[in-house]
Amino acid sequence: MHTDPQYIILLGPPASGKGTQATKLRAALELPHIASGDLFRYNLKHQTELGLKAKGYMEQGELVPDAITIRMVMARLRQPDCAGGALLDGFPRTIAQAEALEAALAEEEAQVNLVLNIVVPDDVLVERVTGRRLCRECGASYHVKFLPPQAAGICDKCGGELYQRPDDTEETVRTRIAVYWEQTSPLVDYYRQQSVLVDIDGNQSVEKVTESLTAKVAPIMVSRN
Ligand code: AMP
Repeated sequence: MHTDPQYIILLGPPASGKGTQATKLRAALELPHIASGDLFRYNLKHQTELGLKAKGYMEQGELVPDAITIRMVMARLRQPDCAGGALLDGFPRTIAQAEALEAALAEEEAQVNLVLNIVVPDDVLVERVTGRRLCRECGASYHVKFLPPQAAGICDKCGGELYQRPDDTEETVRTRIAVYWEQTSPLVDYYRQQSVLVDIDGNQSVEKVTESLTAKVAPIMVSRN
């Protein structure tokens, strides 16, 4: 049996489907889903010092500075449920974050095992973001046109209220996409050079993307079971 920790990264621009796909993959992988954006939103909701520091950047669609982000994610990765690895979503987003992750994992004799790079054209992203709705209670993600809930404004899974993220406006998403190209896309080459990156066509139905991702993570699932 192979029980080395497994670290899998979901890489891709905003609204490329990272969160939706992570929800589908995490059960099969039996890995905790660590989404840096969710960690920030949790801190914002509870008005922690960290949340207040991150607020302005998030509202503008800019990245929260590396030092703050790295400290937050590393603290999460040190929790006992991450002993077997993690499915990372939205982190790393800069080369400095990737290097910090690599250094922290090396201390545990672990490394990034697989980077799933979800590729979606920019114009599709804008349409996805502006129609995106999230459940206030369980965080499930919907789209008014592509993935509507059964009853408008209500979560199918838990009956919670659906809302639009304040940074899901057209103006902010254009900044977030520009930030992606400037600061995050260099990670594609970074991980390709390490031979851990695979490209996934994210411009397909949710089910088809899940199928493609599942095929790529299958060897890891087999080695974990
Ligand atoms: P997300 O939910 O992944 O779209 O993230 C929402 C916002 O949180 C981003 O627009 C950033 O302001 C911030 N954020 C999330 N992850 C990171 C990260 N790895 N580095 C810096 N800022 C981040």
